[in-house]
Amino acid sequence: MPESDPLNDRLNQQLKQRLQQVQARIDAACRACDRAPGSVRLLAVSKTRGSDEVRAMHELGVDAFGENYVDEAVAKQDALGGRQPEWHFIGPVQSNKTRTLAERFDWVESVDRIKIARRLADQRPADRGPLNVLIQVNIDEEAQKSGCAPDDVVELAADVIQRPSLILRGLMTIPAATGSPDDARPAFARLRGLLDRLREEFPERRAELDTLSMGMSADLEAAIREGATLVRVGTGLFGPRHG
Ligand SMILES: *Cc1c(COP(=O)(O)O)cnc(C)c1O
Repeated sequence: MPESDPLNDRLNQQLKQRLQQVQARIDAACRACDRAPGSVRLLAVSKTRGSDEVRAMHELGVDAFGENYVDEAVAKQDALGGRQPEWHFIGPVQSNKTRTLAERFDWVESVDRIKIARRLADQRPADRGPLNVLIQVNIDEEAQKSGCAPDDVVELAADVIQRPSLILRGLMTIPAATGSPDDARPAFARLRGLLDRLREEFPERRAELDTLSMGMSADLEAAIREGATLVRVGTGLFGPRHG
């Protein structure tokens, strides 16, 4: 038996406590709007966190992790070795990184233009099966923000859908910063409206279009109330980000 490491024990205790708190918030938010508690999936956003923290959170039962930077993510994947969680890419996609994304990730949540969809599709290794894709929508049409304009979502979706190595699962958004989490509810509701629109445009894909990735540590309750099926939580699980 290896000797127990008090520092590590303390870290694990903290992570466990935060995970319980976040899961309790998700469950309470579901109950408050009569949604089934299992209808919202938790994505642990592990940017800036070490592979030890990812491993600990994975061992506590979290099975999906989100990363914003490709090289940082790959280093963690390599450090984890055999037992890998499901990896979601949630950062802006540069075209020179699409090959690594196609090879090393299970989901890319931040597809926002046809060029990126084409490259991911061409570069997805056949033996990995189709890559799960979300279209990131710049829902508040902010000048500096990445994401597809709401008016262009159907055209981009049509492009993704016709590529056999991609599978379009839904939409992702980061709404404009607001004073209170409830202020983001109209933006979350608009994203849900866009997903409804895609289900009408592509009825043969209705069953696959099952994901609304919206809500973070500060506003997950508002997002769940408006229909989120995946919440992306960083600081709520891992504590304040260093650096
Ligand atoms: C960092 C990040 C999150 C998590 O934010 P927290 O406030 O730490 O929960 C979620 N989504 C994206 C796209 C991010 O970049």
